[in-house]
Amino acid sequence: MQLPDIVLIAADAAESKLPFVGAAVQKDCTNLFQTHLPSDNPILDLGLEKLAASDIALEEADFVISAGNGVNRVDTFMQLAKVLDAAIGASRVAVDDGKFSRDKQIGATGKTVSARAYLAIGISGAVQHLQGIKDCRHVIVINRDNSAPIVKRANLSVIGDAEEVMHALITLVSEAKLNKERTPE
Ligand SMILES: Cc1cc2nc3c(=O)[nH]c(=O)nc-3n(C[C@H](O)[C@H](O)[C@H](O)COP(=O)(O)OP(=O)(O)OC[C@H]3O[C@@H](n4cnc5c(N)ncnc54)[C@H](O)[C@@H]3O)c2cc1C
Repeated sequence: MQLPDIVLIAADAAESKLPFVGAAVQKDCTNLFQTHLPSDNPILDLGLEKLAASDIALEEADFVISAGNGVNRVDTFMQLAKVLDAAIGASRVAVDDGKFSRDKQIGATGKTVSARAYLAIGISGAVQHLQGIKDCRHVIVINRDNSAPIVKRANLSVIGDAEEVMHALITLVSEAKLNKERTPE
């Protein structure tokens, strides 16, 4: 049997943003190792570990949901983040108000994110905030003001009240998840 090539790539050596499928693939090499490597070779396959989105560094998250001054109910926002399994970010105003810790701030004086999807809720899109999301692939916005600067940057905008839209999304996503569990593949 011919051994497959195994390529080890140093962190940041390759562009990982596009296209990015967002799911890891685990190849079972146990037999290969047993057959072809000396028995004293100390290779241990630890498998894949699924992390909660909240445990992933913001800069590495594939899906970020971010709150601004237009989010009045942080508990609703956190519930939405949980059902969407998204990492949490915030605007500087939301951080300054004490709603989120400083490490969640996105923007010129916060973190730069490069998520495949960035959902901005109640964020106006000040230039300092937009700087932190310039590398995001899809920007989705919930804002009651369709003239907010972030709407121009968005790929999709929902114009409406943050609290109402968040509740509707929680219901829809929860129902969709339940239906998926019930329906065999
Ligand atoms: C030197 C400097 C550095 C800065 N660095 C950063 C940074 O790193 N990150 C950052 O974010 N900011 C930064 N800022 C601040 C920035 O200029 C903005 O003040 C800030 O981003 C505004 O935050 P916001 O969009 O959450 O709030 P706001 O500007 O108050 O906007 C709130 C938005 O929510 C909408 N809204 C309100 N109520 C509702 C509702 N009920 N439903 C739906 N939508 C609603 C409004 O229409 C508005 O668009 C910096 C500023 C300076 C001067």
